[in-house]
Amino acid sequence: MIQRKEIAHLVDSRDFGSEVTLMGWVRTRRDSKAGFSFLEINDGSTIRNIQVVAENTLPNYTDVILRLTTGCSVIVTGSLVQSPGKGQKVEIRATEVKVVGWADPDAYPLQKKRHSLEYLRTIAHLRPRTNTFGAVARVRNAISYAIHSYFHQRGFIYLHTPIITGSNCEGAGDIFTVTTFDLQNLTHEHGRVNFSNDFFGKAANLTVSGQLEAEVYALALGNVYTFGPTFRAEDSNTSRHLAEFWMVEPEMAFCDLDGNVALGEDLVKSILADSLQTCADDFEFLNRSVDNDLFSRIDGIISNNFERLTYTEAIQILSKVKERFEFPVEWGNDIQSEHERYLCETVFKRPVVLTDYPKGIKPFYMKVNKDGKTVKAMDVLLPRVGEIIGGSQREDDYETLLHRIKETNLDPADYWWYLDLRKYGTVIHSGFGLGLERLIQFTTGLANIRDVIPFPRTPKYLEF
Ligand code: ATP
Ligand code: MN
Repeated sequence: MIQRKEIAHLVDSRDFGSEVTLMGWVRTRRDSKAGFSFLEINDGSTIRNIQVVAENTLPNYTDVILRLTTGCSVIVTGSLVQSPGKGQKVEIRATEVKVVGWADPDAYPLQKKRHSLEYLRTIAHLRPRTNTFGAVARVRNAISYAIHSYFHQRGFIYLHTPIITGSNCEGAGDIFTVTTFDLQNLTHEHGRVNFSNDFFGKAANLTVSGQLEAEVYALALGNVYTFGPTFRAEDSNTSRHLAEFWMVEPEMAFCDLDGNVALGEDLVKSILADSLQTCADDFEFLNRSVDNDLFSRIDGIISNNFERLTYTEAIQILSKVKERFEFPVEWGNDIQSEHERYLCETVFKRPVVLTDYPKGIKPFYMKVNKDGKTVKAMDVLLPRVGEIIGGSQREDDYETLLHRIKETNLDPADYWWYLDLRKYGTVIHSGFGLGLERLIQFTTGLANIRDVIPFPRTPKYLEF
């Protein structure tokens, strides 16, 4: 029986003379005057194409093979031989070339020439057939897998937290409401919509973070992590924000801020090292054609210690160069992306971990420091992308937490179960959120976050 072979396995095979069948899409066809044609085939298993040599003695040579163009799908049977040509070790001498689907060359939107990333975004259903998006998809897969193995090897329990929630993990941006109400026919009571008649009997929204639920399980199972989609209705059309993105959220019981920082640094380094190995060919390509500094930048992260300083120390450094910035540098203000990048790229030339932010710019659940002014927060900042991780040690004291909930104008009744965790068997615990797409941006060198997720969701854009 002839078995389908993936090109990834064929390109380095030395099993010369063996008969193989491959299935994929034509990238190019080139005809030789000597009576044969070269087909470059790609099947998505690797960035590398395999060259098929089709002789004019094949019965369908004139009718079919000479009409093949970019994008046609084919099934090729033939024998694997050593390639005399430059640029590849092996090729397939075809005994049969079957066309599965044609792709009209006058209409097919993906011609052989180089297309802009912006144009490719408008054909997100075809862009995975390009080298760049094929590479990104394989790297995204490798990173996701590396994340799961990282936690699995360390005994973390993978936890599924709800997508629909009734609690907005406060401070994490705007939310998408979930409702079955007929929006053309909303009834109001005292000028407000009464959600008690809605599906869940209360206001519901898409989750902005699985953290609060992850804390529940950390305080029972020790170390847990979530890895899933997250939604934020932020109307910020930047190259670093999506309305739907994926987040990894570890949560650890009996772990303080130092342990949290250590995990964040180790996780980022391990994922990078791991995916460099799994996707060597793709990184070769990305380094060559997307970003020539990719390898040196990733190596710089893996082999350097992250710089750690407090928010207050960062403000002192930044105030000395105030005039460079659009946003004012002042204790109590949030650190903006331009400040984050300045610290990483100009001051320290490495990733930076900032800790102990003013409590006024951070959510209620972060552990308040003894000074009463700052909280045990930590942000990990990378060159080029800025914030990649946001996390904290959590407030584990019942009274302080209750006070913080009220202070930030939230209703303690909404957080009764979260407060209970501090009433019964409370422990020091910590966790963070790592944005998957920001990490992929950094790893692949792609500047826009819309190009590292298969189908981006952003303000005013919901195609595909
Ligand atoms: P930023 O200040 O960059 O908007 P944030 O402080 O609102 O981010 P967190 O709530 O700390 O973000 O979320 C944890 C991580 O999730 C961030 O460090 C980032 O990597 C990622 N992230 C947050 N918002 C988005 C978004 N809209 N699109 C993609 N990734 C995001
Ligand atoms: Mn943050």
